[in-house]
Amino acid sequence: MKPPETIALTPGKRILFLTKDPELIRRQLRGELDLRMDDLRVEDLLDDINTDAMTPAWVCFDYKPEDIARNAYAGLIVNGERLFPADALRNGNFEVIVSGYRKGVGSSRETATQCEVFSGIRIAVAASFAPIHAGNNINQGLLMADHAMLTRLQAGEAIPIEEFTKGYDVITQLIIRWGGLFPFAKAVERGDVQLPTPDTAARPMTMGEKILARHMLGVPDEKRYVKPGDAVVVGVDGGYTHEFTTAQVHYFLGQEYGEDYAIKNPSKFAVFEDHLIYADEVQKMRPFLDKIETLRVMQRGFQHHTSCRDFSAQEKISPGICHEVARELIIDPGDFIQATDSHTCMGGVNNALAWGVGATEYANLVHSGFTQVEVSESIRFELTGRLQESVTAKDVMLYILLEYAKPQQTLDRIMEFTGPGLRTLSLDERATLANMATECAARTAIVEADEQTFEWIASMRPGVSIDDLRARAVSPDPDAEYAGGVHTIDLSTIQPMVAHPGDPDHGIASDPTNGAEIADIGDVKIDIAYAGSCTAGKIDDLLFYHQVAKEAVDNGLRVAENVSFFIQFGSQAVEKFARDNGLVDTFERAGATVLNPGCGACIGCGPGVSDTGDQVTVSAINRNYKGRSGPGKLWLASPLTVAASAFTGRITAYTPGMFARVLVG
Ligand code: SF4
Repeated sequence: MKPPETIALTPGKRILFLTKDPELIRRQLRGELDLRMDDLRVEDLLDDINTDAMTPAWVCFDYKPEDIARNAYAGLIVNGERLFPADALRNGNFEVIVSGYRKGVGSSRETATQCEVFSGIRIAVAASFAPIHAGNNINQGLLMADHAMLTRLQAGEAIPIEEFTKGYDVITQLIIRWGGLFPFAKAVERGDVQLPTPDTAARPMTMGEKILARHMLGVPDEKRYVKPGDAVVVGVDGGYTHEFTTAQVHYFLGQEYGEDYAIKNPSKFAVFEDHLIYADEVQKMRPFLDKIETLRVMQRGFQHHTSCRDFSAQEKISPGICHEVARELIIDPGDFIQATDSHTCMGGVNNALAWGVGATEYANLVHSGFTQVEVSESIRFELTGRLQESVTAKDVMLYILLEYAKPQQTLDRIMEFTGPGLRTLSLDERATLANMATECAARTAIVEADEQTFEWIASMRPGVSIDDLRARAVSPDPDAEYAGGVHTIDLSTIQPMVAHPGDPDHGIASDPTNGAEIADIGDVKIDIAYAGSCTAGKIDDLLFYHQVAKEAVDNGLRVAENVSFFIQFGSQAVEKFARDNGLVDTFERAGATVLNPGCGACIGCGPGVSDTGDQVTVSAINRNYKGRSGPGKLWLASPLTVAASAFTGRITAYTPGMFARVLVG
């Protein structure tokens, strides 16, 4: 609904303060207590409310926002019990919800916003919001304010809408004023809104800026320049959804544009069946199998309705993880790609600009063929040197997470990877760099192309011309500006790394930025080793697992007793390579469990997730946020480390010949 020109509290409606004291929340939900901002300090309010606490994965198996809202905040658990019983937020007659710092951290799921909006909330108040969550709030028409504004509202003041749009780019301001993305898009379609075009003078540009400038709509060639902060309307080359997200897109499009809606360029958009393919085998997911099946049916309905590209499972076998298959078959250099998953950034390896969006934004852009974005700042990593034998690109990312992401240097920026060291890495290794941009809280990542890039893409798509691919590629201009700086990383200095699971009981969250060198972590016994996911299910990852497994098997070893070692392919192309080249035979002789393509690891829906809190996993996946891969402790590590640890039973950096030494010693 379009907000009025001045915003005031509605008489009779209530405000919910999410306090650190759970009892105060309980009393507010029961209707026994109404607080005022004057009664509290910001420090009394909950910080870092994770989107997983607002809508855990099982809540997202409902696709209608009104159903999702029934379980708002189902992930806030105190002493083993839900702090918010079913319908508690919806039945509380609240219109404002108040918390502390960094509201909406964690995954990009838009359902976190929907659970509030469809419970009647129209203003979210916090000291700060995670950037993607803030974007979802704007798209859903949820106004955001700070605590000082709330004090004024509670004093009876009506605040002009301009105060709610302050600091945003011009297009975002329009979206807020129209009450969300769909009403705004319809106003554009009707001609009620004239979209501004940036008037940036000719300037040297980064790779990300060049791609956005190239995709601007309605701009003559001589004016194709952008700078950070510009609001631009850009054409979208392609995108995809998977069965965890497609149903909402289908539902929203039907609601907004009628049951006979159509999408632009269906051949450039795709659906994948990959994320819930193993959910049936995860004990915790059993109660939701009916809903999961509904999501699959809805996705098939969307595909038939739109005729978009179809990567459905055949006889329950997935063609592969969307991000892996997209780089193999869909994404070209210079493309601008949007998809409904935060690891869409992996497409940056093909010298494209790609990032994840919520269901509303995706529905809007597949319908119109374009979207609006604010140009982000960039940060550049110039790689030099060559990795040591026991180190991989995953270790480089764990290092960058610790050294650059933790102090927020990558926050909301486009990470560019360039330099002579980059050329020593295979395309699969470069894909790992791009994949983990989302863990860096970056906007995305993009990797400079070279002949290896074009040859790799062409090898995956027979008939594609290398000359055409080369012509589409972008490189940064020599004097391009990097607000985040240009940082040289000598690959030869990187050591085998992990990200540790923190100590949540003492305020150290489990986080991918918890980097540490393996040499410094002491003795960590493991129960599970997981080798797969979009980050580590590629051909080169399989070769890393095999390098270790073969050495172990040749020296008479099998996977350590009491350790489960799962190896999962990223796509059918990866599986074919592994089978044709004897890798699978070695894995099976080693005692590993080899799994069909697919994932689900970081949403608790796949193999390799822990079942109990005392289990320890070492995993080649990308994120170790608490609870997302089961209740146990999750250490992130490289493919080499994961495989070596599977055989030793404790977290161990790989060194060539290590198992021979074990036998001799
Ligand atoms: S790790 Fe698996 S579940 Fe997580 S985004 Fe990648 S493919 Fe999806």
